[in-house]
Amino acid sequence: MLYIVSTPIGNLEDITLRAITVLGNVDLILAEDTRVTKILLDRYNIKKGLVSYHQHSTLNKIERVIDELRKGKDIALVSDAGTPGINDPGGFLVRKILEALPDVKIIPIPGANAAIAALSISGVPADEFLYLGFPPHKKGRKKFFEQISQAKQTIVFYESKYRILKALKELKDIAKIGERPLIVARELTKQFETIYRGTADEILMHLGRGNVLGEFVVVVSPKYKVKSEKPDE
Ligand code: SAM
Repeated sequence: MLYIVSTPIGNLEDITLRAITVLGNVDLILAEDTRVTKILLDRYNIKKGLVSYHQHSTLNKIERVIDELRKGKDIALVSDAGTPGINDPGGFLVRKILEALPDVKIIPIPGANAAIAALSISGVPADEFLYLGFPPHKKGRKKFFEQISQAKQTIVFYESKYRILKALKELKDIAKIGERPLIVARELTKQFETIYRGTADEILMHLGRGNVLGEFVVVVSPKYKVKSEKPDE
């Protein structure tokens, strides 16, 4: 079996009991960065063989994983943070394994995800949303923000500390979001967790004051007001 195991996005306590059991029981753990995963395993006293699997891993490595599965081994895949396959290694590996072993069991062990965590505290309608991952650094970046200007739904995307201020300006200038409220969630679950709420200009004013540090999720409220928002069910 192959388990796709979600791990914390910061706070090491944000892991499910099932994830701990699975990581303790598999024959092998594939990790995006073995040093990052070792910190998590040490915290839960899990002593297990770690093999690196990341975006630059070769097809040869995938073949070796397939061989191990063929032999009946149980394998877990984890990334550095959150859910594998969501802007993290995992999707290609799953596709290749399914091509080679269509009957293999692939089991999700759900848990933390930065986009969902940010949406959950956004106060913005999130029954329907468009998840866009990271804006491209250069080519395609303008198109990314134009796409936001077209979309009717709540938008959620990731951005790094190097480009978060640029992204907020692009939300104003290219996506033309005007006064639409934004949520910028910084360092979720970590010591310096900060939630910025307001227009792009307001958040730019706060964020732009000092050194921009940390990891960020941006939530953009939908284009049109939800007519008759229902109370929570
Ligand atoms: N697989 C991960 C998930 O399930 O959320 C996403 C991995 S992606 C490579 C890393 C990006 O996710 C960061 O650059 C940031 O935009 C966002 N992110 C991850 N952890 C975060 C956190 N604790 N607070 C805010 N954003 C976070």
